Amino acid sequence: MVLPSFQLSGKIALITGGGRGIGRALAIGFAEAGADVILLSRTAKDLEEVKGQVEALGRKAFIYQTDVTVREEVAEAIRSAKAEAGSIDILVNNAGMNIRSKAMDVTDEEWRQIMDTNLTSAFIVSQEIGKVMKEQGTGGRMINIASVAGHLALRTGVVYGATKAAMIQMTKILAFEWGKYDINVNAIGPWYFETPLTEKLLQDEEYVKDILAVTPLKRIGQLPELVGPAVFLASDAASYISGQTLYVDGGMTINGF
Ligand code: NDP
Repeated sequence: MVLPSFQLSGKIALITGGGRGIGRALAIGFAEAGADVILLSRTAKDLEEVKGQVEALGRKAFIYQTDVTVREEVAEAIRSAKAEAGSIDILVNNAGMNIRSKAMDVTDEEWRQIMDTNLTSAFIVSQEIGKVMKEQGTGGRMINIASVAGHLALRTGVVYGATKAAMIQMTKILAFEWGKYDINVNAIGPWYFETPLTEKLLQDEEYVKDILAVTPLKRIGQLPELVGPAVFLASDAASYISGQTLYVDGGMTINGF
């Protein structure tokens, strides 16, 4: 038998921003693949809904109303999660936001808010969970949800692009430093997927026409198309992959959109 397992049975995965959008789809997909999940976000109602969906699949969900930009809140949530769930085997740094101001108009407050939400939070959570995984001694998987905007120059704006490029570099350096603990660190770079973050933009038919013109597969991504790559990177099938960014982008490679 040479086919490795694509399942996550018996694993426990912590997903930031697990309350809606991509994070919610990953929580449900990971549960379908056999994992229990730990979900962090600020909106209790969203977390309760996803918990119900995960439990309906026969898996456990541990939810913590947490602002992932605040070190003390993250550390407390991870302490409680470790005690309640038993271990943490997989981390998905997914929480994120954007304000699409042009470079000349970005305020200091916007810069700090997007940096804190997209980048600093991912580092804080990785650092706290890195320590847990090292102590557990059973290795681990980390997946950073970056973006096509981390390697192409896009209308998504300078702050968002800078956070996602930094996330891709952080992925490589954490993979380099933590490989010795059997922790694989990879990133996923999505192109457009319909979520609460993008739904307004994607209601604009002209905008969607522009997107499709530069997308070789000629359609917006469907959330299950992100779940497959994330489950793969979290599974035994990806055990020798680390430091990589897997673009889930419908083939999009064009700067300046
Ligand atoms: P959504 O806005 O739909 O969801 C974002 C999630 O992050 C929410 O659950 C939100 O919960 C949580 N979150 C935001 N800030 C914080 C915070 N400070 N503390 C805790 N949780 C927080 O976004 P998407 O699902 O679309 O995006 C998810 C990730 O994917 C982001 O990193 C985004 O940049 C990336 N991405 C998305 C693309 C897309 O097309 N949708 C394309 C490329 C990348 P709450 O507000 O309740 O805290």
